[in-house]
Amino acid sequence: MRKPVIAGNWKMYKTIAETVDFIEKIKPVAAKAEHCEVVVAPPFTALAAAALAAKGSNVGVSAQDIHWDKEGAHTGDIAPAMLVDAGCTHVIIGHSERRHDHGETDEQVNRKLKAALAAGLAPIVCVGEILADRESGRTGEVLKTQFEGGLAGLTPSEFSRIIIAYEPVWAIGTGRTATPEMAADTHRLLRDLARQKFGEKEASAVRILYGGSVKPDNVGGLMAQEEIDGALVGGASLKVDSFTALINYPRK
Ligand code: PEP
Repeated sequence: MRKPVIAGNWKMYKTIAETVDFIEKIKPVAAKAEHCEVVVAPPFTALAAAALAAKGSNVGVSAQDIHWDKEGAHTGDIAPAMLVDAGCTHVIIGHSERRHDHGETDEQVNRKLKAALAAGLAPIVCVGEILADRESGRTGEVLKTQFEGGLAGLTPSEFSRIIIAYEPVWAIGTGRTATPEMAADTHRLLRDLARQKFGEKEASAVRILYGGSVKPDNVGGLMAQEEIDGALVGGASLKVDSFTALINYPRK
């Protein structure tokens, strides 16, 4: 039984005060939500305050990126132990905005992933195709490359500690969502790749979240798919009401 994860990626939004206020408001909602895990990913500046506000609750706090080195001359980057020191439980790795804005490669994703695992963080690893890949029938090929490159060298036991987020790039922030069936088909493809690389037990246990314009009015259809184990949400995670509605997505 895979416990769903509802994770909010706040990107470059929210001050420290806004972050603390938001977490205080969702804590009681998360406390009642035994059906899922709740995670928020504030910007770096608000992580320590977020972790303090979330302390003792079941709201996980995620960074949005990580550097692979323990420390060093990397202006603007944040080391794994710094995220742990700030109180993070999770870290998003390989988000398409990092891949496209900062040219992040699968090899870098892989280094970040290994560093996050070594630091004891739960990585949320993002993969997803651009529209041209989807339209030219290359989705499977692109995801295989990202999966094999990003997850290279992981042991099955390391793999069992990660969460995968399938985020078709054409659906992020565009209002255009993959249909539940389309997302589920792609999740099956990812689970097959996991099966080939890490074995049946690990593949059937890994949580695969869907991300891309998830909103309160479409989350029910997506979550009704057995293959979809939660959502990584950008825009609709920024308001308490909509994030609360996502946490309490319609269930049978
Ligand atoms: C995201 O940033 O991971 C995302 C899925 O954004 P949005 O929900 O706004 O499409």
